[in-house]
Amino acid sequence: MFDDEARARIFSAIDAGFDSQVAFLQDLVRFPSLRGREAPLQDWFARQMAQRGYAVDRFSIADVPDHPKMAPMVGVDPAGSIQVVASHRPSNPTGRSLILQGHIDVVPEGPHEMWTHPPYSATIRDGWMYGRGAHDMKSGVSCMVFAMDAIRAAGFEPAADVYVQTVTEEESTGNGALAALLRGYRAEAALVPEPTGHAITRTQTGTIWFRLRVRGVPVHVAVAQDGTNAIMSAYALINALYAHTRTLNEAARSNPWYAQIKDPIKFNPGIIRGGDWASSTPAWCEVDCRIGLVPGTTPEQAMAGIEACVKAAATGDSFMANNPPEIIWTGFQTDPYVLEPGSEAEAVLAAAHASVHGGAMPERRTTAVNDARYYGLYFNTPGLCYGPKGEVAHGFDERTSIEDLRTCTRTIATYIASWCGLRPRG
Ligand SMILES: [Zn+2]
Repeated sequence: MFDDEARARIFSAIDAGFDSQVAFLQDLVRFPSLRGREAPLQDWFARQMAQRGYAVDRFSIADVPDHPKMAPMVGVDPAGSIQVVASHRPSNPTGRSLILQGHIDVVPEGPHEMWTHPPYSATIRDGWMYGRGAHDMKSGVSCMVFAMDAIRAAGFEPAADVYVQTVTEEESTGNGALAALLRGYRAEAALVPEPTGHAITRTQTGTIWFRLRVRGVPVHVAVAQDGTNAIMSAYALINALYAHTRTLNEAARSNPWYAQIKDPIKFNPGIIRGGDWASSTPAWCEVDCRIGLVPGTTPEQAMAGIEACVKAAATGDSFMANNPPEIIWTGFQTDPYVLEPGSEAEAVLAAAHASVHGGAMPERRTTAVNDARYYGLYFNTPGLCYGPKGEVAHGFDERTSIEDLRTCTRTIATYIASWCGLRPRG
């Protein structure tokens, strides 16, 4: 049924709906769906999908059974972290089922004066839409929703179950994606349209989040020699962790998946707070950190490495030797993931890409995480991470290319039609 005429009808439906798609993406970007504040967007998304005729399930991370890969959520209530799954369930399905999944949580935007356009304005200029989340990854969410819309507007429907789902926590734990799986949503393939610039993600590194908590002895700065400075102690630990990272990256030079990428393991002290007074040596300091891990390493090994590094640095310090710093695991405890080449799911996506772009689907090896890992690692489902094109994830003037939204929507629609099969809309 998915022949040249069907393709032409679906592509013209994408064009006919494209202004609506861009407006839909603007609506998404205008929700400041920061961590813990995603629910209003998810409520809106649930209504949008219900209006389209999907069966909509809205639930929280607290509503699903526990799982060994659920990561700690420090400072956020799992009961407020809302997930949405919109189900297309044809009678007597004949094709292969599919999950389309995007995350709608965004990272903090930083000082607004550093943005050319306000970060939640979704301003369009010269073919780009600007805004926090416009690129990572609300763009991909618009593509998956409007790919399905176009198939239906063209008079068809997928001949198999399709779950269109938006999740939270991608930027901090991954628990949203895992919650959807634990809620029971499974399929024969999963596509996560992160903004990869029309490339398939071959590998991703793992990630660990942790907080260093360091104490000090507060004294008047006039007698600073009699106290200790928790901020400077934390600084010593940060330097030790950078040295640890250099050692890990030397070993990664022989990693089969990351040998070609210089320093694939990234360490980042991302938040620091400490001290109470400019003329007192600080009695406390906390640093929130992130470090990666490459395939062949488990999260447990990476965490043991962090503990050993911090312990060694503390032992060499006269104060910290007797007042050991604490390590608190605050989020991600993520396995690396390799999408093994050769799956049928990837072959069908490559063919869809080739039919739209006219060439082989490029592949990328990323030094960050994405949610596709859960499918491949724990649920025996190919997790394909492939999506539109943009720039400056997590930075100022984050933006998505408008024309690439259209291209990606064509590829995803082609993929759905080829993987699931088509039938006349019932
Ligand atoms: Zn993302």
